[in-house]
Amino acid sequence: MDQHIFHILAKLSIVSFKSIHWQHHCIVILQIALFLSFHACSNRSPEESNMPFIKIWLKNLFLQQCWIEIAGEYEIQSQSGKVLQHGKKLEKKRLQIRSSGWTLGGDEFQKDRLLIHLAPDAIIKLSDVPYQGDIILQISDDQKIIAINKISIENYIASVIQQQIPPEILNIALLQIHAIMARTQALFLCHTEQKNAFQIASDAPDFNYSGLLSQSNLSKKAVQSTAGMVLLYQNNVFQPRYHFACGGYTTPMEGSPSFFSVCCPHCLQNQDLSWQSAISAATIQQILYRANLITLQEIKSTSLKIQVLQKDEHQRVLSIHLQVGNKVFHLSGWEMAKLFPDNTLPSNYFTMKMIDHGLIFEGRGIGHGMGLCQYGAFALSEKHLPIEILQFYFPGAYVTRLWKEN
Ligand SMILES: [Zn+2]
Repeated sequence: MDQHIFHILAKLSIVSFKSIHWQHHCIVILQIALFLSFHACSNRSPEESNMPFIKIWLKNLFLQQCWIEIAGEYEIQSQSGKVLQHGKKLEKKRLQIRSSGWTLGGDEFQKDRLLIHLAPDAIIKLSDVPYQGDIILQISDDQKIIAINKISIENYIASVIQQQIPPEILNIALLQIHAIMARTQALFLCHTEQKNAFQIASDAPDFNYSGLLSQSNLSKKAVQSTAGMVLLYQNNVFQPRYHFACGGYTTPMEGSPSFFSVCCPHCLQNQDLSWQSAISAATIQQILYRANLITLQEIKSTSLKIQVLQKDEHQRVLSIHLQVGNKVFHLSGWEMAKLFPDNTLPSNYFTMKMIDHGLIFEGRGIGHGMGLCQYGAFALSEKHLPIEILQFYFPGAYVTRLWKEN
């Protein structure tokens, strides 16, 4: 039914948007539609809370067995919804895949999907890592466990935001900013990956998920104080990007929306964000070889040509032409920077100078420069609210609250 309402509201909102007088109503309608669509993707049951849910594939458990321990009320259900086992505590037991199906300690279950449904305050440990929410267990074609954790988005983002911020600039304001961005990203995935068995894997870059292990009191506080807040652009969620230090100017974001470049005053004034690296042609060839871009034969080639093809309005490198012998590559500036180990090229905001047998790179900042600049945001957080900072780095986007904390 939620899906049906969503389609009606979406149609209504498209028609109504033609009239500027209805703009406010349209925003409200679109927010409701957005909200309902996320609920539709979560398959929530009526007794569950109003918050949207996200499903995370726990890739660390992609094995033929794991250990399960539960503290609190639980039910193990079959694919048809039949309760196979229930209790208030489950001692540590081994879950294994056999040719006949699952074995859990001495119990055997049929070879179909299992759902471990937990009470809200119950905690399940899977191979010693604690999780809340529900666990869906399936068997892969190659007889391995596919474990999916279904939890509220609020619970999920409390586990992933702290790792996204370098410890030297970690404060509550930056955590709140990241909570809003991570919630926006999670809702975006919930929408785009709606039909899939899961929306994100536990080892996704910047979103490494290890259940309750990666939650802290500070991350939970940041999530609670921004409950339900997301960043919208033209009434849609999107994937907000971030980086450590822009070096003076951010660059338009890839994808939709792209946002325009903003001048970041704290980076612009900071001379410590300048860097220089001299790299020999032989080292560059070694790096290309290690990245499987050239062969051992080609590494011996004496001809190496690097040329910047495109820059943004503030001279950040967007694309590069690279030629080793007869082999030609086109890389983005950030792809090229990432090839180099140990922060040799910390950003794609650089100029290049040819020297004998190599190149000198002179640059500024750390990272790709798209979206939020964490260093600039940290400095701005002394005088500005997290919402103002987000709206500064994502011009035209705005923060709104789609639900309240339960
Ligand atoms: Zn900056």
